[in-house]
Amino acid sequence: MNNFGIAIHGGAGTILKSLMTPEKEAAYQTALAQALDTGYELLEQGKTALEAVEAAIVVLEDCPLFNAGRGAVYNANGQHEMDASIMDGKTLDAGAIAAVRNLKNPIKLAIKVMEHSDHVLLIGEGAKEFADQFEISFESDAYFHDALRYEQWQEIKGTEKFQLDHSKSGKKNLGTVGAVALDQHGNLAAGTSTGGMTNKKFGRVGDSPIIGSGTYANNATCAISCTGSGEYLMRAVTAYDVSCRMAYKGLSLKDACNEAIMDRLTELGGDGGLVAIDHQGDIQMPYNSEGMYRASRNARERIIAIY
Ligand code: ASP
Repeated sequence: MNNFGIAIHGGAGTILKSLMTPEKEAAYQTALAQALDTGYELLEQGKTALEAVEAAIVVLEDCPLFNAGRGAVYNANGQHEMDASIMDGKTLDAGAIAAVRNLKNPIKLAIKVMEHSDHVLLIGEGAKEFADQFEISFESDAYFHDALRYEQWQEIKGTEKFQLDHSKSGKKNLGTVGAVALDQHGNLAAGTSTGGMTNKKFGRVGDSPIIGSGTYANNATCAISCTGSGEYLMRAVTAYDVSCRMAYKGLSLKDACNEAIMDRLTELGGDGGLVAIDHQGDIQMPYNSEGMYRASRNARERIIAIY
């Protein structure tokens, strides 16, 4: 099968070209390219979609530019609580973790949940206890400190506000990350990883670790990873919505994505987007926000885009 491919995102939101410097733009493009090519090269070697998704997400989690892993935003207590999920389109197996602190690569623990537990979603201290059985890396709080993200939190600390990593001010140029892939064996996979929203409290968890909302994969239809306002993506069950529109209405990936984002999510009042790949290798990356850090690659083309 030579129609294998991968698509990744680094978050959607108010990303305005007018507020971007050429240096910053280049840094985002370089990071996206590195993650994209890491995943694509594995697919070229015949590795699985799951391996490609994991590898691409690890690169993005290790990059402080994105709101996942190292770049996770501050919650209301000044901590970094991370969420992640993975789904295998072949078996419909899935694994996820939520509100876990100090994890270097949250996606790796989500994969362990999928592969080595009878559960789908583990949270907080329990998820950490589960991680003890494996070689999972933890980092000190200092590893997750970033001056810009700290400043973003200071701006709304002590208020009832919580916000997407891309705020209206346009200063929040960070983002949840995700990847979807189709491998040479015809299998699909999807994964998503995030620090959630700045100043989130009460153990708030968004769509990213919720199978069907932020992440979904099914070999019969498509693989999806979402980004944007989690409360809306959860209510719209966006990732599963795309798959259902293909399965039940017989829509193409493009039409299913457009209906899920441009119609349903938009009507509910949500901001965001997704990356998608179907069982034939078609790739779509729709969003209803000003921008979405995104990239895709297959045998025909290699795209890296922001606006
Ligand atoms: N969807 C994520 C959340 O609500 C945020 C994002 O995509 O940036 O936690």
